Amino acid sequence: MRMRNPKYKDEVINNCNFLITDEISFPKDQPLHIEIGMGKGNFILNMALNNPHINYIGIEKYSSVASIAIKKMMDYNLPNLRIIISDIANLSELLKNKVDVIYLNFSDPWPKKRHAKRRLTSKEFLELYDILFKDKCTIIQKTDNDDLFTFSVDSLKEHGYTIEEISYDLHNTDIDNIMTEYEEKFSNMGIKIKYLKATK
Ligand code: SAH
Repeated sequence: MRMRNPKYKDEVINNCNFLITDEISFPKDQPLHIEIGMGKGNFILNMALNNPHINYIGIEKYSSVASIAIKKMMDYNLPNLRIIISDIANLSELLKNKVDVIYLNFSDPWPKKRHAKRRLTSKEFLELYDILFKDKCTIIQKTDNDDLFTFSVDSLKEHGYTIEEISYDLHNTDIDNIMTEYEEKFSNMGIKIKYLKATK
């Protein structure tokens, strides 16, 4: 999400004691779930609040939008929540063999065929995630976008994943759900939310 820098951006980022810059450390050694492209951070913040037995990292490549998430999170000071400001493509060393679950919420659809490699469920990214996962791989995706969703299902299957859960209208199921900012926006527009959980 590209946007103008908020006035408080530098101050918030410089004073953030849960921003990861070199090594990953949490007070408790417990499963690690990450969201790639957390945007304004509602999802990962509420997941961390609701699930203290899981460690969370919200990853976002743009510092402008990440600073909005950080500002919100500063009021909570959660021991199980950390942020990384980076493109996921640069994190293969830092996150190698550490991750249990990857959340992809409302990822950029990159509709043009020549940009297919940039989709966060392309073969190229799934190969990167193979490096990040500890043992079992679990990817949970939500999107408003039919084409991205179809692409993801095919790509995940080709890469050896099993689609364990799938819904074309998440809000009409009893699957536990924390809404993201984009999800609020799209569902208010009447768009149905697509959801899948894939493992291998
Ligand atoms: N998950 C949020 C934001 C969705 S928009 C929500 O549902 O509301 C997608 C976000 O992913 C944008 O903020 C974009 O900057 C970020 N993003 C896209 N590609 C990324 C990458 N390779 N690494 C890290 N963040 C990425």
